[in-house]
Amino acid sequence: MIQRTFSLTENFTVGDMISQIREMKSYGSAAQRVMIMYEPYLRDVSPHVREIHEALPDMQIFGMTLLDSVGPGMLLSNHTVCSLFLLQSSSVDIRVMDCHQMTPEEAGHQYLEETRDLSDIRGILVMTANGSLLPSDFLDVVSGAYPGTPLFGAEAGAENLQTDTSIVFTEKGVYHEAILAAAFCGRDLSIYVRCNLGWKPLGMMHVVTGVKNDSIVETIDHRPAAYLYSNYLNIQRNDYFYVNACAFPLLEQTGKIMSARVPIHYYENGALRCSLKFKEGEKVCLSYSKPEYVLKDSLASANELAAFRPQAVLLYECLNRRIFLGDEKADREVSYFHQVRDSVCTGYGFGEIMKQGDSGGVLNSTMIVVGFREGPKENTEIAFSHDRELHEINRTMIPLNERLVTFLEQTTKELNQTISELEKLAVIDQLTGIANRRKIDEEISQLLDECRKGICVSVLMFDIDFFKKVNDTYGHLIGDSVLKELTSVVSGEIRETDLLGRWGGEEFVCLFDRMPMKDAMTVAERIRAEVDRHSFSGAGHITISIGVVEARPEDTSDTLFMRLDEALYRAKCNGRNRVEC
Ligand code: GH3
Ligand code: MG
Ligand code: MG
Repeated sequence: MIQRTFSLTENFTVGDMISQIREMKSYGSAAQRVMIMYEPYLRDVSPHVREIHEALPDMQIFGMTLLDSVGPGMLLSNHTVCSLFLLQSSSVDIRVMDCHQMTPEEAGHQYLEETRDLSDIRGILVMTANGSLLPSDFLDVVSGAYPGTPLFGAEAGAENLQTDTSIVFTEKGVYHEAILAAAFCGRDLSIYVRCNLGWKPLGMMHVVTGVKNDSIVETIDHRPAAYLYSNYLNIQRNDYFYVNACAFPLLEQTGKIMSARVPIHYYENGALRCSLKFKEGEKVCLSYSKPEYVLKDSLASANELAAFRPQAVLLYECLNRRIFLGDEKADREVSYFHQVRDSVCTGYGFGEIMKQGDSGGVLNSTMIVVGFREGPKENTEIAFSHDRELHEINRTMIPLNERLVTFLEQTTKELNQTISELEKLAVIDQLTGIANRRKIDEEISQLLDECRKGICVSVLMFDIDFFKKVNDTYGHLIGDSVLKELTSVVSGEIRETDLLGRWGGEEFVCLFDRMPMKDAMTVAERIRAEVDRHSFSGAGHITISIGVVEARPEDTSDTLFMRLDEALYRAKCNGRNRVEC
């Protein structure tokens, strides 16, 4: 595979590009010729496409409008960038689903129907036009059918989402509301895809509680969504909302991929619009980054790409990264990939697309890296990318905000450690070290959910016989040590997955998941006999009485424990040191 990328400027016209392509020896010998075109959203693309198609009729052309593109000479506002792919053994199947008359979900099914006979699909490049067309459903349908195949690409760009002038196109036509899918197929073809973010979770997790029209989130934690930005970051709803908020996208784990959503618009009621879909119940958190994180992540990614030995590379990047990094650092980021392959072609759309199986979807703030290779890795090494300045970043004067970020990170880490220690303590009984009542309550309600799904759940409760006498005879300290020793005796008789907890005083509970009453009775009898046999240090012989019940689908925690109490009471009344159900 050979890739050549051309940027059209005043000094290098379409005609110049066509003559250069005609002179390429490999052009004639290629099995298939494809040109991916990125056009600025301001321009009518037809004249360019027509001129190229007439001159090179055996080449397929497809593309989209972009917010901006990066050619070999870096950011090129308002320029056309063309990337030529000459394929030796693989092929590209290009289809456009016009979505004027169908939903993206229907487009997905149509696509699967049309491509039924394709074999060896290694990856599908997806471009979508019109920002109000949310392609998530299309991606879900197609990746559901091809879970091992990566989908990658971008939503076409336009100046703004309200007067959306974005398009996708091929040499056959221009589409204002459509999904274009180009399947790269071939037995010898390998495609490498990686999604770079560089943002990290910030603060607490929040739950999306109100969603309107999919991409508008009205409430988070039952408060207006914008409250997250005003409360934690003091970002107010005014003309600067986007500029201030775009460095703090909302993060959500989507399968293996952490995806970011940038709020692009706010409403008077505090609702937020993102270019991506939201679902009620989703857990999100704010996120932050610093240029160093983004650049380090991308440098590592460029070196991973180099090890793949790509023959062609496409990048889809969020303009948000450029806003965050500034042009100088953003150019440096792209240059890492140019060091790997100088034919790299970068596009800035509305949202990036990266989906594999149930991971990812339409993303924001990311850089999608796609490498293509026909055949095995060539022996010739690809030079690794370097950025000396990046490694020396902390040896110079560090900006105040970055030092504060470090403080925040360290403090958060320490607080989280403390919280997780406290969380452990909150469910442990101090004297015996086993689960406490709070933990038992939590587990019981989960087990009752399981029971309602038809799974057998049994519970036992035991109480020490005449324990008052132990205290009176040997003192409270010996009484305490009996309680501890008893938990270790009982623990030896139950499975590791069973839960032993202290219900209170000298009463204990055992929860048996996936165990019918009959088996629970056997375990209970074994526990009773083992305690009966045991000699407790300082107190000698002690017995317990046990009640056993099986949970019923209609049980609440209260009704379950009422029956358990009754069973235990019967064991006491019928002479103690016995099991009743
Ligand atoms: P029964 O066979 O009817 O259960 O008789 P009992 O003496 O065990 O009666 P009861 O359940 O009323 O008494 C429980 C005693 O357990 C009362 C209390 O002093 C003692 N106890 C409760 N918690 C602790 C504890 O943490 N340590 C010690 N040493 N004793 C405790
Ligand atoms: Mg008692
Ligand atoms: Mg007792």
